[in-house]
Amino acid sequence: MARNASLKSSLKDYNRKRDFAKTAEPKGARAARTEGHRFVIQKHAASHLHYDFRLEVDGTLKSWAVPKGIPIRKGEKRLAVQVEDHPLSYIDFEGAIPKGQYGGGTVMVWDRGTFEPSSPSPAKDLAAGKLRFVLHGQKLEGEWHLVRMRGGKQWLLIKGGSDQEAISTKQDDTSALSWKTMDQLAGGDNVRKSRSALE
Ligand code: MN
Repeated sequence: MARNASLKSSLKDYNRKRDFAKTAEPKGARAARTEGHRFVIQKHAASHLHYDFRLEVDGTLKSWAVPKGIPIRKGEKRLAVQVEDHPLSYIDFEGAIPKGQYGGGTVMVWDRGTFEPSSPSPAKDLAAGKLRFVLHGQKLEGEWHLVRMRGGKQWLLIKGGSDQEAISTKQDDTSALSWKTMDQLAGGDNVRKSRSALE
């Protein structure tokens, strides 16, 4: 199929790791190159709770797993491990990945919005191992940096900017997409059943 033929190698890892007959995650297909600079932070209760930080760059989502969460005070640094690129359609994925599947566990769209890179080519900056950007999210607002550590997939996500920045104006722990909690997202049918039982 033409769509598969045009699939860039950057989404092969994503597709190889998943069984799309079993997970509701979107199948990876590269989108047309856009000028969009969206971001998403997905809270992911896999075997270890972590936050997946994803930036839209050149038609895919460049992705990092941040085990300790997004730093919110100026100068704070958190380890961010680069993982496989994800398809743009992953930007509004939330719900339960079945146990036993890659990344099995609950996913919540914890924050979403746009980012403003400090240079015209975030792709080049990432290739060079340094990207500075401002997030305009529903929860997060302000400047961060990503800096690659020597020779690998390990980066640091660093809070930059000023102390006066408004961070996390909405600190509740519900989805920025559906306002659901992790329990509700994990529950699926059970949540609906128990609710209707109460009605
Ligand atoms: Mn994850």
